Amino acid sequence: ASDEVQKAADAAKTVGDGSSPTIFDKIVSGEIPSNKIHDDELCIAFRDVNPQAPVHFLVIPKNRDGLTQLSKAREDQKALLGHLMYVAQELGQKECPGGFRIVINDGKDGAQSVYHLHLHVMGGRSMQWPPG
Ligand code: ADP
Repeated sequence: ASDEVQKAADAAKTVGDGSSPTIFDKIVSGEIPSNKIHDDELCIAFRDVNPQAPVHFLVIPKNRDGLTQLSKAREDQKALLGHLMYVAQELGQKECPGGFRIVINDGKDGAQSVYHLHLHVMGGRSMQWPPG
């Protein structure tokens, strides 16, 4: 928990203009292996390496195109954002019939550590509220 906050703070310090590739770009290209559960023309979904719930996967756009974080979204990316959420709920329903949670961490205070937009989908247990 607190190491996640520290990681996010460190990542925020090094976040640039979004032009340098992130670890998720390397997952999209296949340079870094991942446990992929979905792949279409716009996005992929893969299991989180450090799962916070029995089911925990990430949905990311293939083409980051300035989307280092949700708050950098442009108006012409609304359809892409909708697609990511649609895919997240389709997979969420399939993997977690009892319900699931979708989270997007944005920026330093949001504890974001990878600056490539991603939706966390978590479930497989009863989630708690509020999150930390
Ligand atoms: P936080 O690290 O605080 O959760 P983010 O919202 O940026 O911040 O989440 C990044 C997520 O990416 C983390 O849940 C982390 O476990 C996951 N992750 C990092 N590297 C990989 C990888 N190579 N494969 C799968 N998941 C990864």
